[in-house]
Amino acid sequence: MGKVSVDAATCVGCGLCEQSCPEVFEVQGDGIAHIKAQSCSLHNLKEVAEQCPVTSIKVS
Ligand code: SF4
Repeated sequence: MGKVSVDAATCVGCGLCEQSCPEVFEVQGDGIAHIKAQSCSLHNLKEVAEQCPVTSIKVS
């Protein structure tokens, strides 16, 4: 699994990624999803990235 990141400039804080992988994503007080870990036991991170409405999640 590659590296996952969130583009803070485009993330709208919808929380979808956090719902899918709370161990990886956390929408914090600034309204942006932050990365807490690089792997998710619940979902494929590439699929989570595809669900982001503003394509802010990158998995390399
Ligand atoms: S799904 Fe996308 S827009 Fe929504 S909180 Fe996660 S990174 Fe941000």
